[in-house]
Amino acid sequence: MSSDRQATAILVPELDAALIGRGSQTVAEMIIDFHTHVLPDEFRTDRSRILRSDPTFRALFNSPTARTAQATELLAEMDASGVAMAVILGYGWADLGIARAANDYLLESSAKSGGRLIPFCAVNPAWGKSAVVEAERCVAAGARGIGELHPDTQGFDITDQGVMAPLMKVVEAHDLIVTTHGSEPVGHAYPGKGTVTPEKLFRLALHFPKARLVFAHWGGGLPFYGLMPEVARALRRVWFDSAATAFLYNANVFRTVATAAGADRILFGSDYPLVSQRRAFSEAAGASLSPKESESLFSTNARGLLGLSLDS
Ligand SMILES: [Zn+2]
Repeated sequence: MSSDRQATAILVPELDAALIGRGSQTVAEMIIDFHTHVLPDEFRTDRSRILRSDPTFRALFNSPTARTAQATELLAEMDASGVAMAVILGYGWADLGIARAANDYLLESSAKSGGRLIPFCAVNPAWGKSAVVEAERCVAAGARGIGELHPDTQGFDITDQGVMAPLMKVVEAHDLIVTTHGSEPVGHAYPGKGTVTPEKLFRLALHFPKARLVFAHWGGGLPFYGLMPEVARALRRVWFDSAATAFLYNANVFRTVATAAGADRILFGSDYPLVSQRRAFSEAAGASLSPKESESLFSTNARGLLGLSLDS
């Protein structure tokens, strides 16, 4: 599939097992990866300057083996994996100049992708007015969301309503989606893990009940507390993505979150290029979800959030 082809409905072999029960393998399903990252080539060729300029880039890419990817590489990966569309996220930049360059690249890549790449732009709430200006600039150029927020390296407190309110006003005014990194309060350390634990994510949802929020990496474990009625009420407009599952959980997490938070709240995300889409798929497709739950994970929930029909 060429990169300029319109997003099409695809059923890939790896997903047959997850989607059986729909009557026929020719029944098409639009697979959406809700969590990918791409960067302009200069972030690779001018790596030392970017490392000096931005603490998020330092946290995630200090290791020379940490991989970045360009949009053409992602599109090739999508073709190979049978992914129709992908949300391309920023990395939660702290430096405004770096963020603008990366955001421009996401917007341009999306514009050239024939609708296959959906841009979410990175802004830092700690910038104050500049965060609002950059968010508005990105929305005017086609951004559908803000993220991925990385509060630890961006240096803001996601539970601070004063810091968050100006940006969230833009989010609510344009019905954007906010994706934020989530951190497990227990378990192993890894680059970029941070401290955005379930309690903080829960407070963000409480503070901004009208905003549509995606808590990445299964929200650091927040779905479990969705079994508490008052938490479930606060999470009415919250979704959880599966980004980087391979590095965090065993595959039972899909079943567990679908039960605790609801199958209508789970989003397939790879965290490409950290995890290949092929690897993320085979893991998700092998999880013990019903065909309907798998459809929710791979497609229906994302389409609902993005306002897409199967014909789009
Ligand atoms: Zn993340």
